[in-house]
Amino acid sequence: MTCLAQTDRPMTDQSPSAPITQDVMTIPRRLPEGGRVNLVGLTREQFRDALIAAGTPEKQARMRVGQIWQWIYHWGVRDFAAMTNLAKDYRALLADRFEIALPEVVTRQVSADGTRKYLLRIAGGHEVETVYIPEENRGTLCISSQVGCTLTCSFCHTGTQKLVRNLTAGEIVGQVMVARDDLGEWPVPGAPKDETRLVSNVVLMGMGEPLYNLENVRDAMKVVMDGEGLSLSRRRITLSTSGVVPEITRAAEEIGCLLAVSFHATTDEVRDRLVPINKRWNIETLLAALRDYPRLSNSERITFEYVMLKDVNDSDADARRLVKLIAGIPAKINLIPFNEWPGAPYERSDWQRIEAFADIVHKAGYASPIRTPRGEDIMAACGQLKSATERARKSRASIAAEAGLPRP
Ligand code: SAH
Ligand code: SF4
Repeated sequence: MTCLAQTDRPMTDQSPSAPITQDVMTIPRRLPEGGRVNLVGLTREQFRDALIAAGTPEKQARMRVGQIWQWIYHWGVRDFAAMTNLAKDYRALLADRFEIALPEVVTRQVSADGTRKYLLRIAGGHEVETVYIPEENRGTLCISSQVGCTLTCSFCHTGTQKLVRNLTAGEIVGQVMVARDDLGEWPVPGAPKDETRLVSNVVLMGMGEPLYNLENVRDAMKVVMDGEGLSLSRRRITLSTSGVVPEITRAAEEIGCLLAVSFHATTDEVRDRLVPINKRWNIETLLAALRDYPRLSNSERITFEYVMLKDVNDSDADARRLVKLIAGIPAKINLIPFNEWPGAPYERSDWQRIEAFADIVHKAGYASPIRTPRGEDIMAACGQLKSATERARKSRASIAAEAGLPRP
């Protein structure tokens, strides 16, 4: 599994000790007066309202949503003219008022191991990255929820970008559709049904903190989960959070997908430094929210992500504390070898250390897979992404200072 949590960390005055903010721009879903409304990312209810506003009789609206929805999300059609079960003049009306628009693919790179990385341009000229990781009999798409991130985890390259904005629901769903386009995964009418899906799983582990963009992420996932369209079950979607505690319950109730948590430390002292949001919601508060999650979301277990940082969080004592802390929570622990980036104030733990840590966790009864970096040759592995537009790197010294480490 890969995540794309790192872009070059730009200059910012937001240090871990500064208050954690979520001042991000949210761009309006609708286009200005006279513009065409993008149908991608609208929930069924919003879709229906949009059709009615465009003159569709209320009585027909539900049926029309169903028909158009299938064209867009089941067949992957982008042209209203091809929606042959609709009257011609209605198709013309749709084309006049709406569009089916996806983020623009700026570059696409394919790794020797088959991993694909897409650099996508979205409204305002911003760029985000999406990574597709093929596996045996399945494939995982790692998608972004924000441009940049307002949080400043000291091991993560995304950190804060000069400009952070929430992705719209359309831009989030659009990432899934772009990948299906590129993989040629839309069904062909009349062809036998292929049960093996290329994009079989989605992880919200790209750029951004999904729980700081909960409404758009929720709406996007509603579209992705809809059984008459993209039809990915909620058990094939994993949302990763750094620990935005108040939104965890909402995510359980309103999305109900699987949850991963960037845990990374076993004491508040260390977690404060690695994941500064811990200063607002500490380990105990986070664990209390996590204990409720499986029941509220009806999901089986929570994934604890744990990045292995040499001499920081990787001791046997850490492993033992970890299993004690999470006792009683149905869990799996994903050990992520740290991916270094220029100026990073940490090093990856030695392989033997990672294995010894995994062993303790495993013996305590938890699955403890060590995540193999994928797509390293195209800089698509965990923490290797960069979006060129918002790039401006901090000095080694300021990164170290923020992490509370001695100056390099
Ligand atoms: N903001 C969310 C989701 C994106 S980060 C979150 O923090 O959970 C996805 C995962 O990549 C997180 O577990 C994050 O901690 C991890 N990650 C970030 N930088 C990394 C690095 N340099 N090496 C390995 N994993 C990293
Ligand atoms: Fe990186 Fe996630 Fe922390 Fe944001 S919350 S800085 S994306 S690890």
